[in-house]
Amino acid sequence: MSRTSAAARAKSVADRRKELAALLEDADRQLAELRHLRESLHDDDEHDPDGVSLSSEWSRLEGLRQSRLEALAEIDDAAARLERGEYGICSVCGKPIAAARLDARPGATECIDHAR
Ligand SMILES: [Zn+2]
Repeated sequence: MSRTSAAARAKSVADRRKELAALLEDADRQLAELRHLRESLHDDDEHDPDGVSLSSEWSRLEGLRQSRLEALAEIDDAAARLERGEYGICSVCGKPIAAARLDARPGATECIDHAR
């Protein structure tokens, strides 16, 4: 990996990290809004006619939040690997990960053959 591309990788990891942190914040905010909505519905209407759709929306958002948390953990790991000079190396076989794969997924820690 050349100096230039290493710097470009560091930037793409940092950008992706920022993006994921914002997405996670967004999911947190939506969950908080939904919680408020749920509480107000409970107060107003014992029968809770929207309870089912609210519940499915809740699980959708929880799933979204969880996957963003995991993506953020992955990108943190990638940032640590960058610092150790191990970025872009497959953690299974030790061979370089294809540039196209890192472009698509800056947090990738396995080559395409060893992808989870
Ligand atoms: Zn591999």
